[in-house]
Amino acid sequence: MRPDELSPLFAEANVLKGVGPHVLTLLKKALRLPPGVTRPRVVDLLWHLPTGVIDRRAEPTVVAAVPGTIATLKVRVLKHKPPPRGNTKAPYKIATEDETGRLDLVFFRTERSFIERQLPVGAERYVSGRVERYGETLQMAHPDYIVAPEARDDLPLLEPVYPLTAGLSGKALFKASRQALTRAPDLAEWQNPSWLKQQGWPTFADALRRLHTPDDAADVSPMSAPLQRLAYDELLANQLALAIVRESFKGQSGRSVRGNGRLRQKIVEALPFALTGSQSSALAEIEADMAAPRRMLRLLQGDVGSGKTVVALLAMAVAVEAGAQAALMAPTEVLARQHAETIAPLANATGLTIGLLTGREKGRARTELLSRLASGEINILIGTHALFQDDVAFRDLAFAVIDEQHRFGVHQRLALQSKGNGGANMLVMTATPIPRTLLMTHYGDLEVSRLTEKPAGRKPITTRKIPNASLEKLIARVRAQLAEGAQVYWVCPLIESSDVSDLAAAEERHAHLTQALGEGIGLLHGGMNATAKDATMAAFADGNLKVLVATTVIEVGVNVPNANIMVIEHAERFGLAQLHQLRGRVGRGSRESFCMLLYQEPLSKTADQRLAMMEETEDGFLIAEKDLELRGGGEVLGARQSGDAEFRIAGVPTFGELLSAAHDDARMILASDPALTSPRGEALRRLLYLFECDEAIRLFRAA
Ligand code: ADP
Ligand code: MG
Repeated sequence: MRPDELSPLFAEANVLKGVGPHVLTLLKKALRLPPGVTRPRVVDLLWHLPTGVIDRRAEPTVVAAVPGTIATLKVRVLKHKPPPRGNTKAPYKIATEDETGRLDLVFFRTERSFIERQLPVGAERYVSGRVERYGETLQMAHPDYIVAPEARDDLPLLEPVYPLTAGLSGKALFKASRQALTRAPDLAEWQNPSWLKQQGWPTFADALRRLHTPDDAADVSPMSAPLQRLAYDELLANQLALAIVRESFKGQSGRSVRGNGRLRQKIVEALPFALTGSQSSALAEIEADMAAPRRMLRLLQGDVGSGKTVVALLAMAVAVEAGAQAALMAPTEVLARQHAETIAPLANATGLTIGLLTGREKGRARTELLSRLASGEINILIGTHALFQDDVAFRDLAFAVIDEQHRFGVHQRLALQSKGNGGANMLVMTATPIPRTLLMTHYGDLEVSRLTEKPAGRKPITTRKIPNASLEKLIARVRAQLAEGAQVYWVCPLIESSDVSDLAAAEERHAHLTQALGEGIGLLHGGMNATAKDATMAAFADGNLKVLVATTVIEVGVNVPNANIMVIEHAERFGLAQLHQLRGRVGRGSRESFCMLLYQEPLSKTADQRLAMMEETEDGFLIAEKDLELRGGGEVLGARQSGDAEFRIAGVPTFGELLSAAHDDARMILASDPALTSPRGEALRRLLYLFECDEAIRLFRAA
């Protein structure tokens, strides 16, 4: 399907020199891979753009070098001064000089043979790095680059700085990106030439080159022409894919799905609570949509804990009443299982048959499940990305629900939708209040239902920010609460750019709390196998564990009503939306609830405002607005951790303006060239493949 021209870009990144299994693992962490992609590819390196540059252009003589700055110097090696025998702490020094003065190169714990090879006495070398003054001498510790005069071109005078992860060096990434760049083919222009000219944008290939081998620090700023160009490419691909889908739906009458209320009534009777007013009205809207003879695409927005799951279940029951099937897709395995567990007793009480399909169902069990699905015995299938797999075939899928939508890409939603006969009706649920412009990028036009009331009996959550220095005091308070039967989530974040892995941090905290609080402290992290994860979650849900130390695997959807304290370490590293999601795990039962935001001092002003915002309000809409305002596209980590992998380049909100242009452009393109057969149309197909909107093209072909 994908044009051969693009194959070099979609090869796995280990085809590149210097990318072995180890670097590949690190790249997997550092790059933002689209959902469902588990192994970094060449194209992922191209989309991983520098956020700054190191300027090595200053080439002073030794005497003119300014301490504290980065410089490139041409020197001659005079003498090696190895550390005295047995003293491993002392550095290995090398005296060098040029016509104007002396410069010491200093190495701590470096392999001697490496230094001897790189810097033979008498040789001339370019060395580049930070120049420092040490007493009377000028020195450079661990030069970033040491090259012979004839290899001078290998030394990047402007070195791009990429977002990294612990263990991955900028150099390794730089080397891989450079190779990735050489694999980028020259593609026919897909943008309107006059628009390009008007904007002053370079070609696609030029844009990539200028970003990965910048001539100027301004090249990599968000407002730079090359970055704007790539962002626009991505936005156009997205808008075009959506427009294609919309067009292909227009021809279809859609299907009218009507139930008789039989199953819903039983479910409502089995519920231990009455529906809130907004749950009932959302259901009425969904029911009307399903009954209408057009294809439904509706968004259900409701803050964390507002009770979206039961609405989804009742809506799915409508499809089953109508003799068809329904699917519920969640972004993580933990969440999919939790949904299955919540729904199972209600399903049992009503005679509904549910199935669970995640990456973990394999072999015979999976085959059997799929045949029960194909025969129609399974009424409701719950699962993860695994639901997209080609061999997952329903007898008659009429309704699909996607939970926590922001974690799925457009093409994945389309894939699920295309499994329905004549296209399934679709409900997308989210706890994140999405501004109008963002909605447009995700769906084009769609209807929205909102859950505005919280279920009765919810208590407010007291939120406090606490400096790390007060950790022991906090632990003492937790101890007192535990004595009264409380349960605690304790979240340790991913740790970026540090040599402690996230796992190590969580393990260390787990050990510390076990020592401080005694037995009953559990640990949940991403590296655990699924069975162990389940067992731990179950033990916490049953109250056998008092404290659950977790990396961010618990971030969405988990429901343990008795848990009333949420401790979040390094809260300053999380996005506000994510903090809000995490906080929503507590305050679900009858106990007074707390959210403790531990932070590392000193806090930046913005970070302080963000945490203060959390103390002030529990309103997810307010928080989301404030988040957009404060983040302003700058906080890469926040954007990353919020899990919004929809865009690789065009991070919202920085590119909001381009979005409307892309929206109009896509419409105009399809109006004049509905089958994309013109030369520009052909080029645009390449663009769609490049940004992995393959599914849209498939729908488009079928139409
Ligand atoms: P979310 O919208 O965050 O997905 P859930 O669907 O997980 O929220 O619901 C959170 C909790 O609220 C669950 O324990 C659920 O059983 C409960 N709940 C849902 N609706 C109501 C209601 N109308 N009254 C009381 N509790 C409810
Ligand atoms: Mg939920």
